[in-house]
Amino acid sequence: MPGTTHALMSAVARHAVAQCVVAGRRRVGGHGQGPSLAPPHRGGAWGVSARAASASASSASIGASMTTTTTTTLRGMTTRAMASVSQAQTRAEVSQVDVATPGKKRVVVLGSGWGAISFVKSLEANGPYDVTLVSPRNYFLYTPLLPGAATGAVEDRSIVEPIRRPIAAKGMRYFEASAVSVDAAKRTVRCRGSDHTFRGAYTKEQSDKAPWKTFDLEYDYLVTAVGAVPNTFGVPGVEENCMFFKEIGDAARFRREVNERFECATLPGVPRERIKELLTFVVIGAGPTGVELAAELYDMVYQDVAKTFPSRLLQDVNIQIIDLQEKILSAYDRRIAEYATDFFKRANITCLLGAIVKEVKEGCVVIQDKETGEVKDVPFGLAVWCTGIKLNPLCEKIIETLPEGSQENKRSLLCDKSLRVKGSEGSIFAIGDCATIERPRSLAKAEDLYREAARCTPDGDCEIDLGQEGVKKALMAGKEEFPHLEEISNRVDDVFKQFTDGGSRMSFPQFRNMLEDVDKGLRALPATAQVAKQEGQYLAAFFNECAGDEAKLKADDARFDYVHKGSLAYIGKDAAVADIPGFTIVKGIAAGLIWKSFETISQVSPRNVLLVAADMVRTKIFGRDISRIN
Ligand code: FAD
Ligand code: MG
Repeated sequence: MPGTTHALMSAVARHAVAQCVVAGRRRVGGHGQGPSLAPPHRGGAWGVSARAASASASSASIGASMTTTTTTTLRGMTTRAMASVSQAQTRAEVSQVDVATPGKKRVVVLGSGWGAISFVKSLEANGPYDVTLVSPRNYFLYTPLLPGAATGAVEDRSIVEPIRRPIAAKGMRYFEASAVSVDAAKRTVRCRGSDHTFRGAYTKEQSDKAPWKTFDLEYDYLVTAVGAVPNTFGVPGVEENCMFFKEIGDAARFRREVNERFECATLPGVPRERIKELLTFVVIGAGPTGVELAAELYDMVYQDVAKTFPSRLLQDVNIQIIDLQEKILSAYDRRIAEYATDFFKRANITCLLGAIVKEVKEGCVVIQDKETGEVKDVPFGLAVWCTGIKLNPLCEKIIETLPEGSQENKRSLLCDKSLRVKGSEGSIFAIGDCATIERPRSLAKAEDLYREAARCTPDGDCEIDLGQEGVKKALMAGKEEFPHLEEISNRVDDVFKQFTDGGSRMSFPQFRNMLEDVDKGLRALPATAQVAKQEGQYLAAFFNECAGDEAKLKADDARFDYVHKGSLAYIGKDAAVADIPGFTIVKGIAAGLIWKSFETISQVSPRNVLLVAADMVRTKIFGRDISRIN
């Protein structure tokens, strides 16, 4: 560790280091490490220690609290607790000897979701990088089947993959912790062990005061794949009265709570009105997640609950979906959105569309009709918030540490075309939901493109206004730098007519207007697993190709290009909708089969493919397990 660290260490932390050196000499196997067994090296770049070092104000305060609390708490602890802290200190400090392999670039990956796992899996095993992954979640979650897990169509364990499997296979290192801040100038990331890592072994108070709970990692390259967090858009009462639906724990809770509502409604003497409220399930947000959750719930109720609970309850079940848009799945092709909306209505799923959610109270959502302004209460037994995501708080910290003006888009980390975070001098990369790729505006180059095609002189005299062929040529000349121009050149007939008002020549001002309009239509890539996965794969291929060469990793000639492979959504009763580019739109049972097969074979390991396939067969033959076991 750098000298400054030691200078700031508390007496207890120094004691821990002494223990660590002893442990290091004994060469005890690493605590939570991958197979990297580099020789003990206290000054090593990979030093992981309970250090209280940083020039920044926030870091200093963390350090200060650690220093004081460590000493005071140890005094207040029981002998047993002190012994266990001391043992753990020894264990924790053993990780300090686990230094980076000399000559290898240190890569720290944050997250264990779609972006991170595809990066890690595509990176060469034992390649030129020393990789450490940090995430509070020690598993990857296959989110597309989360609605299935929430209703028992598939089991929780079938859609998670322990992160340690790919980590071990690739000779990498993993720490179950959250990154809490990044110092871009010093290239360090501060991590804090997750509370659940300490649960059982320590009380929360003890673990908070343990000096090894917070540690710094140094990196040459940081790959940020921390995803996004739910966004309530400031609607009052959402946090308190709704469930979110993002993690495996949410699915387990949903399954348990739905079951509890039915059991409660079955008890003798519950008034009919109360039963109706208990069995009203409200899903807020009619994007793919909300729609699939409502669809899976519908299947569960009508395929399994109907067979096992008193049949009188069914007439009081009410599944409702609320959205601001006029159609469900409104971001999909119009024909899909219309089909899915009709499908839901025919299935008696109440679609409250064109509705603004004003507030969520205990047991009641307050909505306002977008057109009429009419406000009404929608009572519920269970409400799930399935709409909107926002910046992960860690990314805010990263933005704060970057030079002023480099990150104008405060909704995610703004990256260049190779996924390097702007302002980080090529040391931080971002992938998945936390990243937005800056799309270069073609307008800035309008004049060059036009001049070139219209053979203008340096004085600005152009021989001719451009005909349709000339416009196409100008667009194609710019496509390398501005990929979106290629798409426009494919429909040049229409745009030419539109911007020349039906004329046969396009003037420079008209050409400018066209590019301005095209640039405005540039959208950020959607926050989907498909994008995160492709970005992770691209970045790993880039890292593999650069083989640790700093100049190559900084070069400007690489570019991530997203290939949209299509959208699929399950809508219930074995039906789905599929929009696959280049093919016609598929709807109904055929699309349902495509969806089931796709979601089964797309699992990240053969083990999960097998588990999901077995779950699907089991559900078809025996139905879902609707008991509450946790
Ligand atoms: P995530 O997969 O969310 O992973 C983020 C990771 O970062 C997690 O491991 C988290 O624990 C970790 N992390 C968070 N904070 C920190 C920190 N401070 N330090 C370290 N680690 C941290 N997309 C599709 O394309 N198709 C679908 O069918 C689909 N269905 C979905 C269904 C549901 C229910 C949900 C919620 C999403 C669905 N999505 C789907 C969207 C898709 O899951 C996301 O776009 C995708 O997960 C984004 O990947 P990511 O790697 O950016 O983030
Ligand atoms: Mg899906």
